[in-house]
Amino acid sequence: MKSLKENFQKAHIVIIGSGIIGKFNALELSELGFQITIIDPAKLQNSSNAALGLLMGNMYQKRRGRSWDLRKQSIELWPQWITFLQKFNNELNIEKPLIQLTTNEEKFKKFKKLIYEKNDISLRILEKDSIFIKNINKSFQTKNIRGIISFKDGRINASLLLKTLDEYLKYEKINFLEEEIIKIRKSNNHWISTTKNNKDIKSDIVILCNSLKAVDLIKNISHNIKLKPVLGQAIEVDIDDAEVDLLSLPKQFSINGKNIITKSKNKLIIGSTDEYSTNPEENPFEKLTNFLDKKPNWLMKGKISRKWYGIRSRPDGEPSPIMRKIEDGLIICTGFYKNGILLAPACSKWVANEIRNYLS
Ligand SMILES: Cc1cc2nc3c(=O)[nH]c(=O)nc-3n(C[C@H](O)[C@H](O)[C@H](O)COP(=O)(O)OP(=O)(O)OC[C@H]3O[C@@H](n4cnc5c(N)ncnc54)[C@H](O)[C@@H]3O)c2cc1C
Repeated sequence: MKSLKENFQKAHIVIIGSGIIGKFNALELSELGFQITIIDPAKLQNSSNAALGLLMGNMYQKRRGRSWDLRKQSIELWPQWITFLQKFNNELNIEKPLIQLTTNEEKFKKFKKLIYEKNDISLRILEKDSIFIKNINKSFQTKNIRGIISFKDGRINASLLLKTLDEYLKYEKINFLEEEIIKIRKSNNHWISTTKNNKDIKSDIVILCNSLKAVDLIKNISHNIKLKPVLGQAIEVDIDDAEVDLLSLPKQFSINGKNIITKSKNKLIIGSTDEYSTNPEENPFEKLTNFLDKKPNWLMKGKISRKWYGIRSRPDGEPSPIMRKIEDGLIICTGFYKNGILLAPACSKWVANEIRNYLS
């Protein structure tokens, strides 16, 4: 009898879209022995390249249901994948811990409830007497900030992660086509993906990882999937104030929903906005720095040194993400909205199981 790996080697899988979700599926499936082709006309212009890379898994408030299961699984899988991927880039790592801060009394009560009920030693409350809070108060000139620290959550540098996955795909000689797919159809037991240049690519399985555009390719198949575009903007800010040493701040934290990454003594990254739009603003400074009632002077005087954005896909009428078998051999994996980097390991595990069941 042939081994499962030998059976898998015969199956050809086309992955449409090479953001974090397409690339991570390629990694998982190629490690299982499948023959993979990834197709994407613009692999650098996607929301994955805009991501800040925060992994907010274990500090998620709702500890049951599908969303929690995916977060929990991903937080468990990430360290194993990082160890594996360090063979291709030893700088890749997860910076821990992650801190979530609030000035809202109700929100803080929820943090306390989570810690009290779950008794999870990887989470702790940050009260006013904590050194983290003292440093934040000093820098931001605040008095009423408190929060939660998670020693299991953290941050992966998203662009380094994508580059490392590219290294892996190159090393494994995984087929990459810089093409746009405009149509997919079933022919006998196979799927045919047609490119804009009229090239047909035959495969046993197609995985749609092309975010918002996934629905365009299944217009002729019955489904009820709706996706909405959500704009996410981020800025890198230079601070020109000798009095402020940003290195006294945590490396990654959020205040009232805005994520902040300390890059150096005088550089911060702040992201991201959350707007049902596709048009980034000329100057997103105000929107991204309004997380406190009163901004400290050094932040008001800050200058944008870099700005970028990404369009995320959010499911309309159902929770994020959408991972579903549409037909035999056709899987959709999209609608990751705010958490594509976090959830990539758990979603590709789900896809691999779906394919295993289909082929066995
Ligand atoms: C500013 C910002 C900050 C973020 N921060 C975080 C964070 O801290 N943590 C986190 O987990 N997530 C974060 N996210 C969200 C995360 O980036 C997304 O959830 C994730 O990138 C979704 O990945 P994806 O692969 O589904 O889509 P994408 O990265 O958008 O990739 C889709 C790909 O499909 C390709 N494509 C489209 N149509 C076709 C076609 N017809 N044929 C072939 N290819 C096609 C596109 O070219 C594109 O490359 C952030 C997003 C933004 C914008």
